[in-house]
Amino acid sequence: MNKRVRHVLGISGGKDSAALAIYLKKKYPQLDIEYYFCDTGKELKESYRILENLQVFLGKEIKRLRAASGYHGDPFDYYYELYRGFLPSSNARWCTKTLKLEPFEEFVGKDPVVSYVAIRGDEDREGYISKKPNIQSIFPFRKNIWSEDVIEKVLDNKNKNIISGIFQKQLENDKIPNMIENILYKSTTPSYTRERKLKDLLSAGVVLFNKAVFEFLKTTDYPLSHLDTFPLLDNQDVLVRDDIFRILEESGVGIPEYYKSIEFTVNGKTGTYSRSRSGCFFCFFQQKIEWVWLYEQHPDLFKKAMEYENSGFNWKQDEKLEDLIKPERINRIKEEYIKRNGFSSEKKSGFLIDVLGIAEDEGCAVCFL
Ligand code: SF4
Repeated sequence: MNKRVRHVLGISGGKDSAALAIYLKKKYPQLDIEYYFCDTGKELKESYRILENLQVFLGKEIKRLRAASGYHGDPFDYYYELYRGFLPSSNARWCTKTLKLEPFEEFVGKDPVVSYVAIRGDEDREGYISKKPNIQSIFPFRKNIWSEDVIEKVLDNKNKNIISGIFQKQLENDKIPNMIENILYKSTTPSYTRERKLKDLLSAGVVLFNKAVFEFLKTTDYPLSHLDTFPLLDNQDVLVRDDIFRILEESGVGIPEYYKSIEFTVNGKTGTYSRSRSGCFFCFFQQKIEWVWLYEQHPDLFKKAMEYENSGFNWKQDEKLEDLIKPERINRIKEEYIKRNGFSSEKKSGFLIDVLGIAEDEGCAVCFL
């Protein structure tokens, strides 16, 4: 008997997950998606505003998941106290685990769940894949909508015959075209990698490949094995950054304010800055220029971030925030930033991420989608 499969989408307060919610609602209204937001209590107000706008567009609640329920303050502060002021860092990211992943896994429980993840077609990263077998990630913005663990199984050399048989079944009485057959029977090796084989199969036919994977999953315990159909099998869209901004603007939900670039001048030179990610205002993944942005655009929040450093731990390994805001230091950060990004009076970016492409890809695939 088929089990009820839940469809969930985590909204981070950033642009990509918001755009994915809009895209799926418009393109696949038949999917009954549950939206959730893991609230650390420390997000920028611009993120909360996007959540409000999105709820209106979706006509549905975005469920707020808060860790440490019962605690009087913000979830982040509960763990900050519990860990005696030990601040999270890229090497000790207790915040993502306790404030984002654990509430999500509790929300899901033991139900089979398809989780939609907003990694874009122009990104080269995998995103968070739950280790829980009842949670399956799907990536609708990419040509390859499947997660790495699924692809690993499908393209395992020992499954070649099974997959070829499934392809044959899809084509009913037609013979598998030679070109596809050659790819299917070619073993992966260090010189013909799984990534290469995947690319070849997707180039030969995305929908055919998706249908074959879906059939293959029926031999497993993945959540999709409980469904008779899955509308995204026909999806051939690949969405990149420009599409995300277009979707947000056209829908009326809008772009989170913090992405909008603000001009600054330092020693006669002009540049623009903004924040390139959602997440907590004090996130340690921020670039130094983003800390300067926070100091100048949200001085109250910067002050709060500084107060956390009274515990004796720093947000940045190499520098305390009180040193980062010394006037000569701010000027140096701005100058270096202008130099690195080659601003000129002719070339002005509408969004900082146009010049911060690398920074955008760094960090946490749970918090910044
Ligand atoms: S946004 Fe940064 S500080 Fe906040 S939970 Fe995510 S990784 Fe941690």
